[in-house]
Amino acid sequence: MCPFYMESRHLDALIQALWQRGYRVIGPRVRDGALVYDEVHTAQDLPVGWIDQQDAATYRLRKTDRPLFFGYVVGPYTWKKFLYPPEQVLWRARRTNGGFEVVHEEENDAPHYAFLGVRPCELQAIALQDRIFLQGSYVDPTYKARREGLFLVVVNCTRAGGTCFCVSMNTGPLARSGFDLSLTEVLREDDHFFLVTVGTERGMALLQEVPHRPASTEEIAAAEAAVERAALRMGRHLETRGLKELLYRNYEHPRWDEVAARCLSCANCTMVCPTCFCVTVEDATDLTGQYAERRRRWDSCLTLDFSYIHGHHVRASTKARYRQWLTHKLATWVDQFGTFGCVGCGRCITWCPVGIDITEEVRAIRESEKEASLAATN
Ligand code: SF4
Ligand code: SF4
Repeated sequence: MCPFYMESRHLDALIQALWQRGYRVIGPRVRDGALVYDEVHTAQDLPVGWIDQQDAATYRLRKTDRPLFFGYVVGPYTWKKFLYPPEQVLWRARRTNGGFEVVHEEENDAPHYAFLGVRPCELQAIALQDRIFLQGSYVDPTYKARREGLFLVVVNCTRAGGTCFCVSMNTGPLARSGFDLSLTEVLREDDHFFLVTVGTERGMALLQEVPHRPASTEEIAAAEAAVERAALRMGRHLETRGLKELLYRNYEHPRWDEVAARCLSCANCTMVCPTCFCVTVEDATDLTGQYAERRRRWDSCLTLDFSYIHGHHVRASTKARYRQWLTHKLATWVDQFGTFGCVGCGRCITWCPVGIDITEEVRAIRESEKEASLAATN
C-alpha cells in the first residue's frame, strides 16, 4: 500500500482517536531532565522541540527552536516497563485452618495499551521479547495479555544518537513490518508532515479518522532521505561478522579483566536494556503471619545475588558476570533464539556510570586477534 501524507497538526486527532477506541496511549514525555514513556493525552504532551545528546555515560536534553515532535532518539525508559512490569504480585494468600487460601492471582484485566513513538530498534526488541515470552516452552501470561491488545505506532528515526548502532544490528533506522502504523516526521521551511505507512487493517481504520491523502513521490523521497541521513550518522558501529565465534574463542581474553576493573556491577545496563528479561521472585509475609505474597521483580545477571544458586555464587567475580552479560547478548543468544539479543539502541553505553561501551569491548577483542595474527605472520 502506498504511504500517506498527514499534516503534523493532525497528530493530535490520531492520539484522540486512539483514546476514543479505549486505548491507554503511552508515548514520550520530558520529565526530570530525561525522556520517559508515560500517558500522552494530547500532541502537546510530546517533547516538542527537545533533542537528546548522548555519549558514553553522558545524556543531556536540549530544547531547540525546531518544533519536531520526535526529534529525540531514546531515553532510559523502554516499552518493556509496560509489557513486563518491573514489579508484579504473582499471588497473595491468606492463612486458613490448616492451610492457605489464594486471594489474588495474576492479572486478568490487562491494560489496553497503544504505544506511540516506538523506535524501529525498540520494535525489534519487542519482537525479541515476544520470542521469549510467547513463543518458547513457557508463555508468560502477563506479557501475553498486555501484548495481545497492543496497538503499535512506530516513528522512524531521522536523527541518530551518539551511542546508536542499529544499522550494525540491522534493526533500524526504518521499521519495515510489525507495526499498525509507522510515521516518518519531516520538517521543512514551508511544511511539517508525517509520511504514514499502514501495517494492519486496524491501522488503516484508525488513519481513516484523521485527515490524510496519498503522499506524492517528492514527499516520499523527502522522508526516505531523512531516514537515510540518520543511517549515515550512527554514533557507534559494531562489526557482527563472525561475532559469536569471536566471543567463544576469547572466553579467557585479558580484556574481561580490564572491563571488570571498571564495572561497578550496578546493573544499570540491564535495567535500561529493552531486551534483558532476568527477574527474581520473592516471598514475604505480614507481621501477623496471616498473609503471604509472592512478587516478581526485574533483576540482573550483573548482580552477585542473581548468581547465587543453592550454596554458592556461580559467577562470583564481576569479570564472570560482565562476560556472561555480553556473551549472552552477542553469542549464546544466537544459539538460544537464532538472533542477537542486542538491537543497538545504545542505552547501556549512555547509562553506564563509568562509560563501558559494548561496541568498544567487542572491538578491542577483535583488534587484539587481528594484531596477534599479524604478529604470527611477520
Ligand atoms: S545491549 Fe545495550 S545497545 Fe544492545 S539492546 Fe541492550 S541496551 Fe541497547
Ligand atoms: S557495565 Fe556499567 S552499567 Fe553495567 S553493571 Fe557495569 S558499571 Fe553498571
